Amino acid sequence: MRSNRVSPGAPSPQERRSPTGTTATRRVGPRLVDRVASKIRLDIMASGWPVGEIIGTEPELVERYGVSRAVVREAIRLVEYLGVARMKQGAGGGLLVTAPDETAVSTAAMVYFAYAGVGPDEVLEARGIVEQRAAELAARVATPEQRAGLAALLAANTATGRATADAPPWTEVHGLVAGLSANPALELLTRILVRVTDWYSASGRRSDAQQRRERRAAAAAHRRIVGAVCAGDEVAAGRAAREHVHQIGAYLTSRRGRRPMTFEDMSSGKSVAKLASVIAAEILTDVVTQDWPVDQHIGSEVVLAEQYDVSRSVVREAVRLLEFHQVVRTRRGPGGGLFVARPTADAVADSLAIHLDFEGVDTTQLFEVRSAMELATVERLAAAADAATIAQLRDALAAHRLVEGRAGRQIHGWHGQLAEAAGNRAVWLFLLALMRLTETRGVQPDAAMREWVDREHVEIIDAIGAGDGARARVLMRDHLEGIRPVVRPRNTAAGVATGP
Ligand SMILES: [Zn+2]
Ligand SMILES: [Zn+2]
Repeated sequence: MRSNRVSPGAPSPQERRSPTGTTATRRVGPRLVDRVASKIRLDIMASGWPVGEIIGTEPELVERYGVSRAVVREAIRLVEYLGVARMKQGAGGGLLVTAPDETAVSTAAMVYFAYAGVGPDEVLEARGIVEQRAAELAARVATPEQRAGLAALLAANTATGRATADAPPWTEVHGLVAGLSANPALELLTRILVRVTDWYSASGRRSDAQQRRERRAAAAAHRRIVGAVCAGDEVAAGRAAREHVHQIGAYLTSRRGRRPMTFEDMSSGKSVAKLASVIAAEILTDVVTQDWPVDQHIGSEVVLAEQYDVSRSVVREAVRLLEFHQVVRTRRGPGGGLFVARPTADAVADSLAIHLDFEGVDTTQLFEVRSAMELATVERLAAAADAATIAQLRDALAAHRLVEGRAGRQIHGWHGQLAEAAGNRAVWLFLLALMRLTETRGVQPDAAMREWVDREHVEIIDAIGAGDGARARVLMRDHLEGIRPVVRPRNTAAGVATGP
């Protein structure tokens, strides 16, 4: 069952020439479907997530989006995989708004990390930023009852931990502390990053003695974090959380005999048949094992059904899941079939933005996370960026200053470029999502505001260029504080779609 199922079929000359493997005409279809799917998602966000409500019948959606029935059906399939809505059949049926599937978004992040070769060091650095901020906020805002609850859990854990030296570590502490931060964005990112870390941990072998050492160290770190949160000591809580995450990172990177990533399953099974999701995970594992050979031919539905000994409908379902996560793409017609695709960060950032909105992240919370990540970004750039990188970032500023019409997106775009230049793709991906959310709530800046923003950007890049990380942090913090008031609040359930 494990042997080379992704057959190394020779790509046609045309595929070799085109990096994306698609011609201009072939792109029209998928792009239209993506656009419609994304409009449906934005409309659901704009109307404040009316879970359980029907937002239109198929003919109504055809009318609303001005596209064919076939396109609407494909778009609905996409939003169904995101878990944002599903088609309810029969009388009184239509597109029913549902709660988005969190597993789908963490899987999307893992798929992108696997494709881009993002290692545990980048993921753990992102975790350090997120969990430090979460622990600081928890120490500041947790109620006395919440602190007492956390302390009680710690006491119970300590008791069992002493009884058996190799009792499982109290890994729940990460989610619990993030839960006390009163910031759903930090909670969501912590849950996603913990799941991604588990996936990295599963891929390395270590001795029993080492495992016991790691557990003891983790238990001690958890006691320090919880102790500081309970004592209301923000600085100590943040430091303990960051140090613990660095410790996890050191264990992960020190492991010998690291194997390629494997995927057991690609979904929570909520919207996808279990067997299809297992087959999809096997195909994905094969793609990862082969270093993600973009454009490689994988086979046809018939061939895959034979190889995996499942029905064609299971294969079809698996392929849809893989297509949704941009692992494969289907090309119809002669020479067609299934090909390895190239995942993009944009699609993952979109899914993340949707989840953050669904979780009720308000503007203050959004900027709490942006600030934590962007301050770390400018500090890292000030310490490590070379002259060429800084020159590029300056050029990017000059280029976007000339663009008038789409200033909002351009302004945020520069922040994305900073994160990209800083070189941590996990932080960059999460910032893209946070900026996407800012954009959906942002207002178009007037000339005075654009001028102010431009001036601040120049000061920030000057501080980075001078290697002054502390000054760059202060400037970035003030800059984000300045932007925050012009961002619209989140729509509530009673809210009406105001449009862009
Ligand atoms: Zn831990
Ligand atoms: Zn800015």
